[in-house]
Amino acid sequence: MRLKHVKNADKIIEEGLYYIKKPKEYKGKWNTIFKNNNPIYIEIGMGKGDFIIENALTYPNINFIGIEKYDSVLVRAVQKSNALELSNLKLVRYNAENIEDLFDKEVEVIYLNFSDPWPKDRHAKRRLTSPNFLKKYTNIFKNDNHIIMKTDNTSLFDYSKDSLQEAGYTINKITNDLYHSTYIDNNIQTEYEKKFIARNVKINYLDAIKGEKHDRRR
Ligand code: SAH
Repeated sequence: MRLKHVKNADKIIEEGLYYIKKPKEYKGKWNTIFKNNNPIYIEIGMGKGDFIIENALTYPNINFIGIEKYDSVLVRAVQKSNALELSNLKLVRYNAENIEDLFDKEVEVIYLNFSDPWPKDRHAKRRLTSPNFLKKYTNIFKNDNHIIMKTDNTSLFDYSKDSLQEAGYTINKITNDLYHSTYIDNNIQTEYEKKFIARNVKINYLDAIKGEKHDRRR
């Protein structure tokens, strides 16, 4: 995606209405920042934020946190959300490599939308669905591990499906053509998705759950 340089991006981000400057301070206590105990859903790699912002508008009883490592796109999410009145949205600048710094058993759902595919085998560890990342996520989930993903990239999708299953996830919903499936109801589009749909590219979608923690508690 080509990006126009935003002047003073850093300042705009720091002053963002929903931007959290020191997210590590809220590890284990995000409920205090939202001032309620509603479920927390996060998107890792939210880009310019269309998906997470639209979700926050649509589902006021769910708390949404968008995580993004690059200022150049995060600044767009900040600008869009500044124009809205939302009590259930927070935006964070962070590298998901260190996602365990931010959450402790408090996330209900992780959304991974159009994640970087890292096509080379030697970069497989960087994929957000690699065993390496799935292990990190285990510690941030509150109950069941629940990952919902969309991507145009069939290689990444197939890899992720295998990786999730190997980690003990059950794939409850899956399609290689979201727009010709029943899962399209209630679908909220991302920026990448809008571009791919305009070019008639098929969107892969899956919803996977691992109920490990429930089992352990018994
Ligand atoms: N979800 C958006 C953007 C997809 S592009 C959409 O669907 O339109 C993938 C995004 O993930 C990029 O903005 C990239 O900067 C971000 N990203 C990739 N690796 C990341 C990481 N380790 N931590 C946080 N963000 C990451």
